Amino acid sequence: HAKVNGRRQTCFFDAAMSRDLARRREVEAELRGAIQKNELSIFFQPIVDLSTGRIRTFEALVRWFHPKKGEMRPDEFIPVAEETGVIVTLGNWITAQAARAAAQWPADVTLAVNLSPLQIKAPGAALGIINALREAGLDPARLELEVTESLFLDDSEATDAFIRELSERGVRFALDDFGTGYSSLAYVNKYPFRKIKVDRSFVSGPDVSRRTEAIIRAVAEMGAQLDMEIVAEGLETIEQVTAVRDAGCTLGQGYYFSRAVPDYLAAMLLAQERDEELMRKTAS
Ligand code: C2E
Ligand code: MG
Ligand code: MG
Ligand code: MG
Repeated sequence: HAKVNGRRQTCFFDAAMSRDLARRREVEAELRGAIQKNELSIFFQPIVDLSTGRIRTFEALVRWFHPKKGEMRPDEFIPVAEETGVIVTLGNWITAQAARAAAQWPADVTLAVNLSPLQIKAPGAALGIINALREAGLDPARLELEVTESLFLDDSEATDAFIRELSERGVRFALDDFGTGYSSLAYVNKYPFRKIKVDRSFVSGPDVSRRTEAIIRAVAEMGAQLDMEIVAEGLETIEQVTAVRDAGCTLGQGYYFSRAVPDYLAAMLLAQERDEELMRKTAS
């Protein structure tokens, strides 16, 4: 009986693998046409100042509305885009679109864009970003690039040059998904990060445990010493917001505040905020 089961499992596994492979091939082929067909769109999720409640930044998050498969999350197609090299074209398009939207916001609101390692190591990567900013009319000081620790796994000159070149022009860098990679402190020390985003896994669950809170507190203290802001990701409840604020995080992001929304809604959130402030001022 066990033997039959074993064989069945093997068959099932093979079938699942080839299905997976077929789906990846399909995604790759379709991804190349998706930009032209207008199936991709950039959404924006606010990053909020935890002491004032004001929106300080919008993070650009790409969405793919596939005519047959429905909404596809970046976790599904970004890896395929990386493996196939499509990420360079896709990444340039994302930065250009996001910068165009951000140019319409008040000047104190910044834009955060995620970059994948392959995109950064491609020739002309820094120039692509500079050009996108220039065309959109967005001040480089209003752009923040989010990178993950995987960027530094092979320490390449291309990465150093990219970060140096853009830093010199005023672009800022944030270390994303902090706490999930390797040797985090070495990178924190080597590169001019302005922000550290503590990974969502640290706050997930109904409440933030005392141990987790101690870790966040330690990171926040380091941030304060090094003049870096600490962002807590994945805040879904008021309890989590309070816990990370008490632990010293200055910025927060998550469904508690807002999901990622289309550009017109992002602009509306900002307008609403401005109206409320105006009302408060006239009332007092
Ligand atoms: P990330 O940069 O760490 O982005 C945060 C992810 O967490 C987003 O998922 C966001 O929708 C989700 N999120 C935010 N708040 C909450 C919350 O309170 N609860 C939960 N459960 N989730 C929350 P998304 O949009 O699916 O993106 C996933 C990842 O894909 C991103 O992680 C980023 O690494 C990558 N990605 C997204 N857009 C781009 C892009 O334009 N370019 C590149 N290279 N990567 C991107
Ligand atoms: Mg990010
Ligand atoms: Mg993250
Ligand atoms: Mg992530």
